[in-house]
Amino acid sequence: MFGLRKTLGSLFKTSKTDEAWFDTLEESLIQSDVGLPTTEQLIIKLRKAAKSEKASSPEELQALLIQEVSTLLGSLEPNPNPLFTDQKIHIPEVWLVVGVNGAGKTTTIGKLCKLFQSQGKSVLLAAGDTFRAAARNQLQEWGGRNQVDVITQDGGDAAAVAHDAIHAANSRKSDILIIDTAGRLATQDHLMEELKKVKRVIGKALPGAPHHTLLVLDGNTGQNGLSQVKAFHAALGLTGLIVTKLDGTAKGGVICALAHTLKDEPKPAVLALGKGEGIDDLVPFTAHQYSSELFN
Ligand code: GDP
Repeated sequence: MFGLRKTLGSLFKTSKTDEAWFDTLEESLIQSDVGLPTTEQLIIKLRKAAKSEKASSPEELQALLIQEVSTLLGSLEPNPNPLFTDQKIHIPEVWLVVGVNGAGKTTTIGKLCKLFQSQGKSVLLAAGDTFRAAARNQLQEWGGRNQVDVITQDGGDAAAVAHDAIHAANSRKSDILIIDTAGRLATQDHLMEELKKVKRVIGKALPGAPHHTLLVLDGNTGQNGLSQVKAFHAALGLTGLIVTKLDGTAKGGVICALAHTLKDEPKPAVLALGKGEGIDDLVPFTAHQYSSELFN
């Protein structure tokens, strides 16, 4: 599954561990975006275990690594996961979706539409990317595929679209409203201010909303992706993350680095992983499963 697997697969199948073995492990973890601090912490624990002979064979160390990473990532696991439930707590339940261009935001919204519908919920979309007509068209395509309406405005701004969409969702009694926004870098101050405004306008139109502020993150963006998460979280108070492109050649370790980056409370949970371009390629995140896949 993950790229890391290929390197590690052979490492865990060797007959003994020595200095070179630990060096290779350390290198593979770093190359897979696990991040330096987390890698160092893991290597120290594994070396200790090997020294005390608590876990000395590559197999035992693999099991220990899975367990350690699973514990580390437990803090990012949602409990319960608001994406995978039939429950309707707020009607409409408003999801504001943000991220940088190309992260997989629109594709993920398409997947979310299908997921919510499979739970018996009615969905409305809002095209908050008023900068690019292509983005609006792409969202409309996903809406068409799911037979879901998309609220758009010609020439309006994102806050106005969001405001309209809340009213539309209220009058149609939609269960879910997903508001897309234009891709932006967290370093673009004026665009981050615009997002804050969108969030404020949503809250005014529907007190308590948005109920979820979701960042879509490309799982292959390494350190840059982590700074994006930090900055979006500081500006908007994210409640959830979806990490995309964790299929194919993905390095896969980014969520370990996220756990380190987001050590402060309150932190957004990782709600789901994108594992392909298809509409069904979205899976819930669980720390143990992710850790097992990463090191197996
Ligand atoms: P946006 O600019 O953030 O809205 O990104 P898009 O949704 O347009 O996605 C950018 C590209 O990434 C498209 O080619 C998508 O098909 C692709 N993509 C999105 N999610 C995934 C994923 O989980 N896996 C893979 N392999 N590709 C993805």
